[in-house]
Amino acid sequence: MKTVPTLLIHGGAWAMPDDAVAAHEAGIANALAAGYSILEKDGSAVDAVEAAVAVMEDDETFDAGRGSFLTSDGRVQMDALLMNGENLRTGGVACVERLRNPIHAARLVLDRSPHVYFVGQGAEQFAEQRGMALCNNSDLVIPRELERLEKAQAAERAGHGDTTFSGPHASDHASHDTVGAVALDAHGNLAAGTSTGGTLNKAPGRVGDSSLIGCGCYADNRSAAVSLTGWGEPIMKLVLGKWAVDRVAAGASPDEAAHAAIAYLFDRLGGHGGIILLGPDGRIGLAHNTPRMAWGIRTPTGIELGVTRNGKT
Ligand code: ASP
Repeated sequence: MKTVPTLLIHGGAWAMPDDAVAAHEAGIANALAAGYSILEKDGSAVDAVEAAVAVMEDDETFDAGRGSFLTSDGRVQMDALLMNGENLRTGGVACVERLRNPIHAARLVLDRSPHVYFVGQGAEQFAEQRGMALCNNSDLVIPRELERLEKAQAAERAGHGDTTFSGPHASDHASHDTVGAVALDAHGNLAAGTSTGGTLNKAPGRVGDSSLIGCGCYADNRSAAVSLTGWGEPIMKLVLGKWAVDRVAAGASPDEAAHAAIAYLFDRLGGHGGIILLGPDGRIGLAHNTPRMAWGIRTPTGIELGVTRNGKT
């Protein structure tokens, strides 16, 4: 029996200002179009997720690819994970600095390596040897982010640590613009992908939740597909992606599991973020405890885009 193809995307969860909403919605609409055109042609969930995430990496609106947040020494360092729920094949890269689309490198790891995860220069070398072009790190740095880093570091010097979220004072007002997608294809297979430049002013070499299997991303046909965004350290400590899909496997609806995960994140560690979940039956879950979250969904019946406020859809 064929399942109903579904593509669900997020483009970050934070106190997004009004003037950033249109760009987030446009970016998500473009990503939905790219990913869904694959699902419509009977393509696989993993292809759809990879295509959708790549579109958002190419869009400077988001904290992924060019336009990512900068490390404390002014560089772009990116992490991405792609997972196929049919067979649990997974590819992850972290701390890559010279790849425009880390999600494509993650796909190469998924398809063409017995390993699951590559970091830094080894990841770049792996991708280059399999045909990906390397860029200069400066090609990924944009003026908006240089300015943002300067402000964060000035605030840090002035003792207002909560404008960065590399430290213990991360707040729900910090920007979390990571991108992610979950898909269900007509053959009943799930996939998930997440890509990020991490957190603003992070220490060089820091890896967040986004690309860690079971933390910011996970997919298994027997449970659900999930992608998260938010303050990475608490999400990692709770292995929150796996926590959420396990609840779906145990009988919770994706909606219940999504809300429970965000409640757990806050209750246990005071964490902030957002989550998207998609079950093998096409039911979805969406929750966040940040002032806003950007998301979009596409099914055969149409497209819905939203920047939800205050955790209410
Ligand atoms: N979760 C990401 C990280 O901690 C940041 C984000 O979601 O924007 O690296």
